[in-house]
Amino acid sequence: MESRMATLAIDRYTMLIDGEMVSTNDTISVRNPATGEVFAEAPAADAADLDRAVAAATRAFPAWRDTPMADRKAALVKAADIIDANARELASLFTQEQGRPLPGAKAEVRGAAMWLKATTMLDLPVEVTEDSDTRRVEVHHVPLGVVCGIVPWNFPVLLAIWKIGPALMAGNTLVLKPSPFTPLTTLRIAELIGGCFPAGVFNVLCGGDALGPLMTSHRGFAKITFTGSTATGRRVMESAAKDLKRITLELGGNDAAIVMPDVDVDAIAEQLFEGAFHNTAQVCVATKRLFIHADIYDQLRDRLHQLVKDTPVGDGAEQGNRYGPIQNEAQYRRVLGMLDEARANGLTLLEGGSVPERGYFVPLTLVDNPPDDSRVVVEEAFGPILPLLKFHDIDEVIERANDTEYGLAGAVWSDDVEQATRIAHRLDTGTVWINQNLQSTPFTPLAGAKQSGFGQENGVPGLLEFTRSKAIFIPKAPAGSIPEAEVAAP
Ligand code: NAD
Repeated sequence: MESRMATLAIDRYTMLIDGEMVSTNDTISVRNPATGEVFAEAPAADAADLDRAVAAATRAFPAWRDTPMADRKAALVKAADIIDANARELASLFTQEQGRPLPGAKAEVRGAAMWLKATTMLDLPVEVTEDSDTRRVEVHHVPLGVVCGIVPWNFPVLLAIWKIGPALMAGNTLVLKPSPFTPLTTLRIAELIGGCFPAGVFNVLCGGDALGPLMTSHRGFAKITFTGSTATGRRVMESAAKDLKRITLELGGNDAAIVMPDVDVDAIAEQLFEGAFHNTAQVCVATKRLFIHADIYDQLRDRLHQLVKDTPVGDGAEQGNRYGPIQNEAQYRRVLGMLDEARANGLTLLEGGSVPERGYFVPLTLVDNPPDDSRVVVEEAFGPILPLLKFHDIDEVIERANDTEYGLAGAVWSDDVEQATRIAHRLDTGTVWINQNLQSTPFTPLAGAKQSGFGQENGVPGLLEFTRSKAIFIPKAPAGSIPEAEVAAP
């Protein structure tokens, strides 16, 4: 097994298996979405590489499980500090592979380091379900074994950290796979922080389309934590069912934001705009359907149209661009297809300014009050197309907002917070924001409803997803003197 160091100066990257950075004979090409050009080669792991990583993680598990929690936390804090100290270099690589302008790239890298540290403030609870004269019954939460983590391309660093932090802190070992579209920042982080953990505890594999299914069907994993599209999530669940692997699925969304007529349109327009177009609208919890009360519809539409026209979109490495390209060609073609279909169906598109011709750029686009059954309303575009939908009353808008297979998040905008809260309770989603957007914290679970997910990430509930319960019945009287239970365990 050849070992080599990856640096920014060379364009061949390596992956982390059993404490070593290793290369593969085959590679996958990584493109800069702002130019469409290949600028680096990443490893293409095969079944043998996967077996090696799982074997290393399996060997490392017992000692890591038995390492005191405080020591596991200290290793994660050290890793967080290293990521933060290298934020500038990592952000530049992030922009090259993901497309997001540098300030946003740096915010994700530094935010991920902060998140990792904050995760170490959580603790696994021990519940006492009985404490009587004869016995004490304790429920502990113990690690599962080797975890498989699979990450998408839209927030490649933060979403990897959402898996690395709780999986390792709970005492599991991990084999992580970034998206083949955005593997480099994760591989570089693996190289930087690999030494914080004993060999085999943290492994990062990189590969093409075949690697994900190989991982989900590998019998060495006790658990899969997956973030990606709903379509792939279904495949992951099917594959995991064969040997009853535990799963957490964070999937797609088609989030509604509801804007009531009492708002100050000028005061909130910019926030609504960012809530929809942040990261070029490639955000699972972005506003993807904006319901606007008829009384303020024209005013808010015109204000948003102005913002769309005034906002610079271009290469994220160049200063001044607020949004970058679509991250990859397949997604770019899909978004263009949705726009073509909208035009062909006579929908009114309100487009932003011009965008570079080279690379995967799409102008920010509003769709003026399309029918609820049009594709731009029904499907998650995952690109800068925002349908504006006019509504007249609360019952009507709640029914329309809930009329989707997804249930990730949603937002209500109103000066009447009590009324907004009542509306929030009626939305079938895992999260609702009132007068805010895109908020999440290391202490609050993100849990999709309906086809948006299965299980949750973050907070103690997210940490518990990397454990199983273990009840221990501890006697307080000598053996033979404890009364038989009236109802025996089945
Ligand atoms: P995707 O489902 O195409 O890919 C996600 C990951 O799964 C990638 O690493 C990919 O290589 C891997 N993969 C592909 N096929 C696989 C298979 N059969 N088995 C196992 N792994 C496989 O998703 P994407 O296009 O990278 O990401 C965009 C989607 O992710 C959007 O739908 C978005 O809403 C969703 N997302 C959800 C959240 C959340 O927290 N709910 C966060 C970010 C993104």
